[in-house]
Amino acid sequence: MSQRTLALQEIYRKGSRILEEALIPEASLDAWLLLSYVTGITKASYYGAPDREVSEGEAEQYFASVGKRAKRIPLQHITGEQEFMGYTFRVNEHVLIPRQDTEVLVDEALQALSPGARALDLCTGSGCILISLLKMAEERLHIEEIKGVGADISEEALAVAEENAKRLGAQAQFVKSDLFAKIEGRFDLIVSNPPYIPTEAIEGLQDEVRLFDPRIALDGGADGLHFYREIVRQSIGHIEDGGTLIFEIGCEQGEAVAALMESAGYGDVRVKKDLSGLDRVVRGRYNREQMYESRRRGNV
Ligand code: GLN
Repeated sequence: MSQRTLALQEIYRKGSRILEEALIPEASLDAWLLLSYVTGITKASYYGAPDREVSEGEAEQYFASVGKRAKRIPLQHITGEQEFMGYTFRVNEHVLIPRQDTEVLVDEALQALSPGARALDLCTGSGCILISLLKMAEERLHIEEIKGVGADISEEALAVAEENAKRLGAQAQFVKSDLFAKIEGRFDLIVSNPPYIPTEAIEGLQDEVRLFDPRIALDGGADGLHFYREIVRQSIGHIEDGGTLIFEIGCEQGEAVAALMESAGYGDVRVKKDLSGLDRVVRGRYNREQMYESRRRGNV
């Protein structure tokens, strides 16, 4: 067995080349992130001493990780984590990897919170929306006494959410529930990033999403709107008058989801854009009078 040790720079370059050859979109960035994951090195210490030698064990572990990424396994499944709203969340193959686009939803939800509010997150997955909402409300905005409930149909996802809440020190209750099936009481705020990809469009997504995000976290039925229809309809029994419902949406679903909400009794319905300028969030306030009016007109 060779005793030759390798320098950081050498393995980083090799790692980048392997990922470039495998046509990984951000090859050198991912090669770097894996190097930093395996060796714990920061950019500053790397550039201070790129010739530092790494142990054979570390080099082996690095190339094993690069090999996984070359097979399109998402970086986050290799490192086991993803940052979201400035917090680090544990992730695995049972939850959708938190996306930066979803931060817009959290931002919008924070504006709807007042002290003592009850908040429900449906299809919570890793728990990233609910947990960052609770953490931000308490630590940064000092909105006290928010009661948070997270629901998911997947027990494996709930285990991840519970671990994240514990690690990040958030007080949340997690319930195994098919949408509202096991949810009791009314909420001031309901948020959800449900599965919204039309079934037939899943095959066209990038490999990392199509093959490694859980399919039940993506598949929104034939037109992608199945969960919006169900959540909007059932929300009427679980939202306070004046309460806020906020969805993440696919960028072409704004109009359809806004219309669903309006015809069910939501007012002040607005579509918000993400940082790329695409429609990403729909929010509205439940207005009981409007719901009765809608029922009289036969919409609900
Ligand atoms: N935003 C995700 C994607 O583009 C989908 C998330 C979802 O269906 N809720 O892949």
